[in-house]
Amino acid sequence: MDNTLNTEILAALDALDASNRRRRLRAFECDANRLISTDGRRLIDVCSNDYLGLSQHPLTKSRAAEWVMRYGAGAPSSRLVTGTRGITFAVEEKLAAFKGCEAALLIGSGFQANATVIPALAALSDTLIFSDALNHSSIVHGCRLAKARTMIFRHNDLEHLAELLRDNNSHRGRRLIVTESVFSMDGDRCDLTALVALAEQHGAALYVDEAHATGVIGPHGRGMVAALPSSVGTVDVVMGTLGKSFGAYGAYIAGSRALIDFLTNRCAGFIYATALPPAVLGAVDAALDLIPTMDADRTRLTTNATRLRSALHAIGLDTLQSSSQIVPAIIGTEAAALAAAQRLNEAGILAIAIRPPTVPEGSSRLRFCLNSALTDAEMDEILSAIANNGVLPAPTSPSPSQPPP
Ligand SMILES: *Cc1c(COP(=O)(O)O)cnc(C)c1O
Repeated sequence: MDNTLNTEILAALDALDASNRRRRLRAFECDANRLISTDGRRLIDVCSNDYLGLSQHPLTKSRAAEWVMRYGAGAPSSRLVTGTRGITFAVEEKLAAFKGCEAALLIGSGFQANATVIPALAALSDTLIFSDALNHSSIVHGCRLAKARTMIFRHNDLEHLAELLRDNNSHRGRRLIVTESVFSMDGDRCDLTALVALAEQHGAALYVDEAHATGVIGPHGRGMVAALPSSVGTVDVVMGTLGKSFGAYGAYIAGSRALIDFLTNRCAGFIYATALPPAVLGAVDAALDLIPTMDADRTRLTTNATRLRSALHAIGLDTLQSSSQIVPAIIGTEAAALAAAQRLNEAGILAIAIRPPTVPEGSSRLRFCLNSALTDAEMDEILSAIANNGVLPAPTSPSPSQPPP
């Protein structure tokens, strides 16, 4: 036993405390779709990613239960060992059709997908990766694990990306551009049409993470890639999670049949991991029936997000370029963001303070994530708490809308 390990761990935790960056697990209970805090108060949830409320939908719950009773609690092994159940193939086909792709592959989680699919692709040939500065941690881990040279372009700055592509046009191997379609911390979108054109122009491959777009944006919630007109061209690799709008768990890669067959052979996160369990497959199957029918819910989300941004602007807060159900309110310091979250909590609203290293230094923020299950009365409560003098502070420092290059 190494006694220095615990001492160093405690020192690291103290340092996090001292810089207001310590994260703690909070208990919560859920009652009829509403969050209950540890002191028994009902809180309005504006922080979860269950954008369509599907984790609590009767159909997702009943199909999950039904498939457990019919097929069992767990999957027996990784899919290359025992084999693949019919329900797994069926859900993959349904997912591929929903995403408008030839084929889809289920993977354990979104983190696992990004962290292991990017390395599998990079191993094909000498790869240079171009990654947006605000890409999710799982993408960052994928790039590192790929051991490929990775160039970071300024967030959504396609001129910067074009410059990096030009500077490296003597690179003989592959160039792979990786972006999110809706960004998780800023709630803004990439310019997908321009990215597809740029990739085309430079002969680069394009990988798009649709974690926050699928279910919410695009035709019948099919995401931003599905919204591209066929004249524009398309994306090589589409990734998405089943843990957000789908209200379940797991993730998928969608693309060509060849891509999926390749990943079945070369993606460690697929090969060496247990298949998704029947309960999850049942919930995802039901979500795939529901999501295309939920246009009215998506319209409500859009309208409510616009109302929320206006309320935040009215008290002088910056919401960056948010144009989705994710709305950041930039506060500045860690301490001020935590205090604002605390005051909102006292007002019955659960919104979370997001601090570095998740977001750039000086841009600690409240991140509001709206979901379509919020009632009009709850929306009114949120807006009046924001308008209530002193609940949210004026920003403590000019908010950098771009992280340092
Ligand atoms: C949440 C998220 C992931 C990870 O997905 P999980 O299924 O939760 O592991 C990947 N990418 C982005 C952009 C995300 O927001």
